[in-house]
Amino acid sequence: MSETTEKDLGNKKETHCTVCGQPSFDTICDTCKAKIQGEALDSKHQVEKEGKTDTGRR
Ligand SMILES: [Zn+2]
Repeated sequence: MSETTEKDLGNKKETHCTVCGQPSFDTICDTCKAKIQGEALDSKHQVEKEGKTDTGRR
C-alpha cells in the first residue's frame, strides 16, 4: 500500500518537539527530554519522600 510507505516516510521525517516546538527527530527533543527526566527525577524524589507515609497503606 502506498499509504504505508507515506506513513513510514512520515515517521522518518523530521518532526517537532511537542514541548518546545523545535524541529526534532523525536517527539521530544534532547533538551526537553533531559529537562523532563530531570523534573521526573525531582518529582520522584519528592514522591519517595512523601510516599514513605503512604507506603504502609498498601
Ligand atoms: Zn524541545
